[in-house]
Amino acid sequence: MNQEILKSMSVLYVEDDPATREEVSFFLERSVKIFYTAKNGAEGLRLYKEHAPDLVITDIEMPVMDGLKMIESIKRLKRDVPVIVTTAYHENDYLLNAVNIGVDRYLLKPLNLRQLRAEMEELLKERADVTLYQSLDAAGTILAVNRIWLDHLGFKREEVVGRSFWDFIHSKDIEQTTKDFSYLKDYGLIDNVLFQLKRKDGTYAEAVLTGHSSYDVEGTFERTHCELKTIDAFMHSEEKVLMLLERERYLRGLITIHAQIGKAILQAQSVKLFLQDVTEVFVKDSVYEFAFIALLEGERRLEIVAQTAHDKLDIIKLLGKSFEIEDNDCPSCEAMRKKKMVIVDDIRKLPDFPVKSTYVKLGIDAMVALPLSVKTQTNCFGVLTLMFKDVHIFGMEELELFENISETVAIGLQAIEDRIEKERLIKVLDIQATTDALTGCANRHRGVIVSKEEVKRAHRYRRPLSIVYLDIDHFKPINDAYGHEQGDHVLIAVAESIRKAIRSSDEAVRWGGEEFLIILPESDLHSAVVLAEKVRMEIEQLRLLHSMRITASLGVTQLLENESWEAFIVRADDLMYKAKRNGRNQVFHA
Ligand code: GH3
Ligand code: MG
Ligand code: MG
Repeated sequence: MNQEILKSMSVLYVEDDPATREEVSFFLERSVKIFYTAKNGAEGLRLYKEHAPDLVITDIEMPVMDGLKMIESIKRLKRDVPVIVTTAYHENDYLLNAVNIGVDRYLLKPLNLRQLRAEMEELLKERADVTLYQSLDAAGTILAVNRIWLDHLGFKREEVVGRSFWDFIHSKDIEQTTKDFSYLKDYGLIDNVLFQLKRKDGTYAEAVLTGHSSYDVEGTFERTHCELKTIDAFMHSEEKVLMLLERERYLRGLITIHAQIGKAILQAQSVKLFLQDVTEVFVKDSVYEFAFIALLEGERRLEIVAQTAHDKLDIIKLLGKSFEIEDNDCPSCEAMRKKKMVIVDDIRKLPDFPVKSTYVKLGIDAMVALPLSVKTQTNCFGVLTLMFKDVHIFGMEELELFENISETVAIGLQAIEDRIEKERLIKVLDIQATTDALTGCANRHRGVIVSKEEVKRAHRYRRPLSIVYLDIDHFKPINDAYGHEQGDHVLIAVAESIRKAIRSSDEAVRWGGEEFLIILPESDLHSAVVLAEKVRMEIEQLRLLHSMRITASLGVTQLLENESWEAFIVRADDLMYKAKRNGRNQVFHA
């Protein structure tokens, strides 16, 4: 039985000492199905990445890359690969370190090959006992399953291959797993999917699935490759539980990020600041190293509009402020071209693109590029790219959260644009509603509001407040003689004369047809009279068409203690009339 297990397995063996290597290789050659040998950690890691063997046996001290370093990297790719370390050391430090990075067994040199075989068998048996394997085609038809799959569910191979995978799962899980399957097809990776498998005897077995997809050279989906673990076995391993907890914490972090982006939408002053906020929200206390956002500019170019403030990475310096989507093989461009999320669990696996080596140098191991679009709309107007500090295994819930987050960013972008446009329109409307169209002065409506406010303020803070009531003399005859249009020009010229004389804190109001009210906060009677006189002279000196001469009569007064707004205005009006009766073209005050 044990013999059989070894015979179906592949093993990677890493050893720098030629004599030992030869001896153990000779033994492995006869014991396992396929074995690979490497002379150092770097070579071993490369072989592991290429062949993903079932078991790793390695020496510790080696040139180029030592055994523990290699195991660390391998464990990052696949956490539960069984590892046996062969060592001449028995110092505690070394062994503790080895245990920490997930070494399952260690054997002291010189090796006892019988013992090695026993350890291998035990490790592989532990693993083989719980790992079900299956491969599906695009329609979800089962192409292949392993022996353990059949044993576990009680079927014969011919009862399974060629049937739909959904014939073998609990009906309550069909909808969710159908969705999961399409993710796996589209994005190529999936992790920790939980569902119930249906046994031949009608009972159910809870399982956790991890898988990836393969694609042909044209990028067309070929098939899935999935490992399933029964939940008992899964939960057995403490490491797995810790991993689940860690993932749970990570997902909670993503939900928080989503909420913070929602808040940023409400508070954003501009689209640019909002997008900047988004790139910062991701890197704050989390696994992300860097984020940037590029928006579509025209049809085929992306322009980088926001990026995380980072002391080593400036994406605009690396890629340029804008670039052609077609020219570039980076994941961001790919996401834009395909209008689909692109996930990269390990950047090193990708073909070279211009900035790949820089990313790797900066310790960025994984990334995801999220197209910015709204589900109910067809257009995609940018990409949000996130970079991870470490190699990253993407999970189903995570991908779903990513989709939601990128949609929120897209909706936010539109909402902020709309809001800013609305605010601009409101401002325009507000100006229209409070300004006299002919003269550009405040209209009477606004004049009333401002003067009432100023009266209140002056009383409350016991500050001086004065007003000037101005009425153009004999204006009706001007209209009659030269026409209404010329009359309008006169009104404009008079308004201009007033504006020229006053301060920015003063307000000129077109109070009625040819009547103006000038509100002078913080002015006492004396300075108000000086100003009124200045305005009177300005008007008198206006040189208009047809050698028209214009004059105006003005009433000036300062607000009295406890005086009401109405009384204040009436007094100014009365004073203006007194000026008229006294011969016009003069200032009357009291
Ligand atoms: P007084 O010196 O006593 O103030 O004589 P007046 O002619 O200026 O006074 P009156 O109130 O009799 O005439 C005001 C005229 O102003 C009447 C009206 O046709 C004219 N008017 C009012 N609004 C406008 C306007 O928007 N444009 C023009 N062109 N004329 C206007
Ligand atoms: Mg009048
Ligand atoms: Mg008049």
